[in-house]
Amino acid sequence: MNDETYLVRTILLFDRAVNTINCARGSREQLKAGIVDMLRKPQRVHHARFPVKMDSDEVRMFEGWRVQHSLDKAPTKGGLRLSPDVSLEELSALAAWMTWKNVIAGTPFTGAKGGVVCDTKKLSEAELSRIIRRFAYEMSHVFGPLSDVPSPDMYTGAREMAWIYDTFTMMLAKNPVANPQAVVTGKPAAFGGLELRKEATALGGVYVLEEALRRKEIRGIDSLSGKTVTIQGFGKVGYAAARLLREQNARIIAVSDSKGGIYSPEGLDPVAVLEYKRATQGNSVVGYQNLAAVNRDAIQTVPCDIFIPAASQDSLTSANAEQVQAKIVLELANGPTTLEAEELLAAKGVFVIPDFVANAGGVVVSYYEWQANLSYDRETTDDVYRNRLRQQMIQTYERARETQVKYSKLCKHSISLREAGLIFGIEELHDHILERGIFP
Ligand code: NAD
Repeated sequence: MNDETYLVRTILLFDRAVNTINCARGSREQLKAGIVDMLRKPQRVHHARFPVKMDSDEVRMFEGWRVQHSLDKAPTKGGLRLSPDVSLEELSALAAWMTWKNVIAGTPFTGAKGGVVCDTKKLSEAELSRIIRRFAYEMSHVFGPLSDVPSPDMYTGAREMAWIYDTFTMMLAKNPVANPQAVVTGKPAAFGGLELRKEATALGGVYVLEEALRRKEIRGIDSLSGKTVTIQGFGKVGYAAARLLREQNARIIAVSDSKGGIYSPEGLDPVAVLEYKRATQGNSVVGYQNLAAVNRDAIQTVPCDIFIPAASQDSLTSANAEQVQAKIVLELANGPTTLEAEELLAAKGVFVIPDFVANAGGVVVSYYEWQANLSYDRETTDDVYRNRLRQQMIQTYERARETQVKYSKLCKHSISLREAGLIFGIEELHDHILERGIFP
């Protein structure tokens, strides 16, 4: 595969968006070069190598980072992932996109991302708990309700957020803060988590998709009913997307996870597939009802109306984009499409809803959770949050679309929804920094 890495792509796209803005602005209104430079790369990187006692009594060293892309709107916000492949490069790209996601979605945060290099499949629950708690301790100068607020991402969930919350409160000692529950989002309801957070990322994506369909912006599709859907990654986000889309009468014909995929032209019942996955030793969808297998790395090319990447980055590349047969790609994963793949998809007329617009529902509901914790609000119901989320996702999509129309006109060539969203974010944050000034 010759496609660029995620971080290189992130910087290339950033540079392209800056150029587009400067081309469209008069010479006296150019973006300030110093502020552009500030936003191009992360502002702070926190690194830790730390020892953990394994069940065998041996000590093993682990490594992790927390990257804060921009400190211009506190706190920073973003997920924490666990994977053998986590790297500073990957987290730097993810943290930058968290900034652009927060800005376009209208939350008060800028972006961060964290990760620890480890394979959760080879760790006991007790070992995982010690890794997370020790990492939370190592990052105790960073994490805090008003400084940096982690949330779930790949291979972390409510349980891991509870461990971080617990570690954080243990360390507060004589320094209590507002409501320590606000140190993480996506935590269990017992400590101030919101039920809606579990499906928020997928639900936000469905709201955006429905809005695009309602506006008749996608050739040949104007409703979800009867449409075929394939989903790469049957984790928290992929499963929720499958369930929500099935409720809208879409047909989920293929899903996959790290072990492989399954195919059913009649459509799958996501709840039954999840039950099967949880009950099997390999924790996989493979083998469900002896259905036909789909190659894990070829689900992108299964004919369907809507393809949803919901696993890791670099799923759609120059190697497979030409074979994609979907009409819509709804990016719920972060960074699934390389630059060349995006061009190939555009040439084929595939409508791509970019990650930081499509999956912003997670951070939007995290914002509601954080806000509710800080104001000690336990009254607001999920229905109220669901309506707020719907409105906020529609606005997010509108901002990207309006910017796309405006800049395509100004530049006299069509720009992608991804570039448009980035332009919106860069202009907003650039102007915000300009107005508040540079310390000292
Ligand atoms: P998760 O750990 O719950 O699920 C990830 C799933 O992907 C697992 O089922 C895993 O088996 C599968 N997977 C891994 N490699 C695969 C491969 N090569 N092919 C197919 N499946 C593969 O993670 P999640 O929280 O559902 O996150 C999924 C994606 O969504 C990530 O890119 C994440 O950054 C993004 N995202 C998550 C949230 C959130 O709220 N959790 C918010 C925004 C974006």
